[in-house]
Amino acid sequence: MRIEVLTIFPEIFDSPIKSSLLGKARDAGLLEINVSDIRDFSTDKHRTVDDTPFGGGAGMVMKAEPIDRALQQIRENLTDPRLLLTSASGKKFDQKMANELSREESIIIICGRYKGVDERILELHPIEEVSIGDYVLSGGEAAALVMIEAVARLVPGYMGKIEAGEDDAFAWGILGFPNYTHPQEYKGLKVPDVLVSGHHAKIERYRRYSALKKTLQNRPELLETIELSDIDKKLLDEIKK
Ligand code: SAH
Repeated sequence: MRIEVLTIFPEIFDSPIKSSLLGKARDAGLLEINVSDIRDFSTDKHRTVDDTPFGGGAGMVMKAEPIDRALQQIRENLTDPRLLLTSASGKKFDQKMANELSREESIIIICGRYKGVDERILELHPIEEVSIGDYVLSGGEAAALVMIEAVARLVPGYMGKIEAGEDDAFAWGILGFPNYTHPQEYKGLKVPDVLVSGHHAKIERYRRYSALKKTLQNRPELLETIELSDIDKKLLDEIKK
C-alpha cells in the first residue's frame, strides 16, 4: 500500500513514520509513505499557501492552487487513489473505514491547517472529508497519523501474526477485553484465576464476558448495532445482575 501525505508541516511525520511497527512495515516494503510539503507547490517566492477569507473574519484559509498542483502531480503516478481531506466537518473515521482503506492500493491524505482549505478543492478532485472525532485540532497532521496507524495495522503482514488484530476492540463490533502479563500478583492484585487455568473454553468465555461488560459500561450504544448470540445475551444478563 502506498500513502501520500500533503502537509505544510512535513517534519511532524518524521518520527512517527520511522518508529515502531510503522517504521518496520516501511522497511519491509509493506507500506510506502511519502510526505510532501504543500509549500513546494506554491508559485511565488514567499512560498505562500494561505490567504485571507472572502467574506471577512479572523484567520487564514489554505489556498486551493498549491494543493491542486500537488494533487495533480501525485495523482499522475497513481491509479485511482482514495483522496482524503482531514476535516472536523468530515465523515467520522472508524474501524470500518480503516478496514476499507486498508484494501486500497493508494491513499492521499491532505492535512488542513488554519481555518481549513478553500472549498473549491473539493470540486476539483474527488475528495472525501474525514474527521477523527467531534473535537477541533489545530491541524490535520495528527488526524492523518491516527488514520495511518489504524489503516496500516490492517495491511496483511503488518503485525507479526495476522491473528494479533483479530481480537482487538471493534474487531468483534464491541470493545476489547482486558489484558494481563507477569507478574501474576502485583501490589496484592492477582490476575484473574481463569486466565492461568489453561482452560481455553473458560478463558474465551471470560474474555467475551469482560468485553461485553466494558462495552456496557463505556459504550452501551455499540450493543445496539451488533447481532448478539444466545451466549452473549446470557452473559449480558449475568453482567446486569
Ligand atoms: N474552522 C475549522 C477548523 C479548522 S482546524 C472548522 O470549524 O471546522 C484546522 C485543521 O485541522 C482542519 O482544516 C483539519 O484539517 C484539521 N482538523 C481539525 N479537527 C479535526 C478533526 N476532528 N478531524 C480531522 N481533522 C481535523
